[in-house]
Amino acid sequence: MDYPGNLFVVSAPSGAGKSTLVKALLELDSQAHRSISHTTRAPRGQEKHGREYFFASEQEFDAMVAGNAFVEWANVHGNRYGTSKKAIEERISQGADIVLEIDFQGALQIKQAFANAVLVFILPPSWEELRSRLERRGEDSAEVIERRLRNAAHEMAQVEKFDFVIINEMFERALFDLKAIVHAQRLKYAAQRRARASTFESLNIT
Ligand code: ADP
Ligand code: 5GP
Repeated sequence: MDYPGNLFVVSAPSGAGKSTLVKALLELDSQAHRSISHTTRAPRGQEKHGREYFFASEQEFDAMVAGNAFVEWANVHGNRYGTSKKAIEERISQGADIVLEIDFQGALQIKQAFANAVLVFILPPSWEELRSRLERRGEDSAEVIERRLRNAAHEMAQVEKFDFVIINEMFERALFDLKAIVHAQRLKYAAQRRARASTFESLNIT
């Protein structure tokens, strides 16, 4: 199925800067919207239900799985996370661009369901910096941080399955790279044909 809106999937090991980059992108780009996932993880300090995530109990999550409500879901760092169909299908069919911040297992499921999805992987500049960002963020316990770092090697090994790679060393540079990927997608023939139909018409391009 070919939708007028684009799906961008951004994955990264925890702490690479995925959420910060996506948030900065969306502040600059009113055409793009973030898909809000469901998770069984407990909310962090400042997180609000319906803003960062829809926080769900194990039972609620089970019911959504049974009801086929998810396009993809996965177990990540001991919690379940999923993208509901509602979060994306309606909006891409109306022409909005949607950004999914999900793990690599979910990214690969999305590519199966939406062949045109654009998969972007964010890498940290080094292991030292990844650890120090997780510590600096100050949102997770030492135990949770260790678990996330242990999972990071396997996650980063998936990068070859992605379309684009951004190394988040200098934040502004990484943001520029992400904007470039989004922009290039909007210049593709099918997108331009839709967005600039009258120009094509006036040029008599059939
Ligand atoms: P993720 O969503 O990938 O888990 P976050 O976006 O929460 O990661 O980023 C982790 C931490 O690293 C945050 O405290 C954020 O402010 C910081 N950070 C993000 N990008 C950079 C960067 N380029 N340089 C330094 N710190 C960064
Ligand atoms: P966090 O708990 O730090 O917010 O997220 C942990 C991990 O879960 C990240 O790798 C994030 O990308 C992933 N994640 C968040 N939402 C989803 C989702 O809807 N589906 C999948 N598969 N992963 C998700």
